[in-house]
Amino acid sequence: MSSVRELDEYFEKLKTDFPIFSERPDLVYLDNAATTQKPLAVIEKLKNFYTETNANVHRAVYRLAEESTMLYEDARKTVADFVGGKATEVVFTKGTTESLNMLAYSLGLSGKYKSFVGPLFEHHSNFVPWQRIAHITGLKFYPVKIHGGELSLEDVEAVVKSCEKPFIFSMTGLTNSLGYRPPFEAIVELVHSADGLFVLDGAQLIPHEAFDFKASGVDFLAFSGHKILGPTGIGVLVGKKELLEQMNPFQYGGEMIDRVGEQETTFAPVPHKFEAGTPNVAGAVGLAEALRYVKNAGFEKITQHIENLTKNAIEKLTDIPGLILYCQKKCHGIISFSHENIHPHDLAELLSRLSGVAVRSGHHCSQQQLKALGVSSLCRASFYLYNTHSDIDKLFYGIKDALRWFS
Ligand code: PLP
Repeated sequence: MSSVRELDEYFEKLKTDFPIFSERPDLVYLDNAATTQKPLAVIEKLKNFYTETNANVHRAVYRLAEESTMLYEDARKTVADFVGGKATEVVFTKGTTESLNMLAYSLGLSGKYKSFVGPLFEHHSNFVPWQRIAHITGLKFYPVKIHGGELSLEDVEAVVKSCEKPFIFSMTGLTNSLGYRPPFEAIVELVHSADGLFVLDGAQLIPHEAFDFKASGVDFLAFSGHKILGPTGIGVLVGKKELLEQMNPFQYGGEMIDRVGEQETTFAPVPHKFEAGTPNVAGAVGLAEALRYVKNAGFEKITQHIENLTKNAIEKLTDIPGLILYCQKKCHGIISFSHENIHPHDLAELLSRLSGVAVRSGHHCSQQQLKALGVSSLCRASFYLYNTHSDIDKLFYGIKDALRWFS
């Protein structure tokens, strides 16, 4: 295990791989839960794809198209290896939101499930699609109450026991609003033993810790490329093969079919039946490069470094009079805060204007979570591998300068 300082120096060196920080030397980027910056390797991969290999995939037999198809399918294999799944279990989507909508529509409209269960702290993309499908289909919708920003296993157990079966349970592995990591491993077993399917929203979890789809036992996993150094517009749904095979496609069109008759159509095998139309080939290739980058950087180091940054930030920010931290027992990589005298939007704007510090402000697409805290808006600082302890100092002094300016 490396020391805090060794890790900081290691990641400070890696920061030079990210061109945005030499283009904008004053930028202190602390909005990584929204999206991450891209290393040159990913940018070059996209450029090379478009300059050297661009062609549609799974359609033509000429050499360029075969090479493009090969890159796309290699990317699928890289994603599968990264999360401990099989290539046939990996569906490329636009992002977590599309992956979760795909599940909500496909599972919800199947008529097989009687109810949906999920905690109130979910990102809207893991709440609203299920709520909407419940309205359309009559599926019963059971939100699980939260305590501050945490979930109690007793509450989950009570809802899981009483809900109509079979059911779908969907939750995040790390909340985007407070950086709380719920004990989802224990809930997977609970859900399975009660005739439920478990969906894990990995949008925040997957960039932050090593994950093994098979060993975890979850039925589905969704995540986005852009939150783990990859391009925007590409994401992943990983699903157990037998479950994907039972599901109907979410979208219909080219390349997802087997045979099209006048009245009936049969579909391509998984995962292709879920990828209607021309996919984001460059995005998939760029995502694979991003995952290789993360793997080479070392996941254990990344997790430890972000843990160190979070601890340092909590210690420093706790010392600012009037600043309220919304960390749960333990926050990972995400710290939400507000000040008793200044609106979060004003604080975020002053942080940017006076100190070049980029933090998010607002409801963080989790209105029910903020309601549970009794607030309508918060500032959020979120860290990723290229952040250093000097960024935490800049956040600390930036908040102090903003408060001084405001007063
Ligand atoms: N789930 C969580 C926990 C998130 O933090 C986000 C985005 O912030 C999403 C889902 C949606 O991800 P995307 O906007 O990439 O589809």
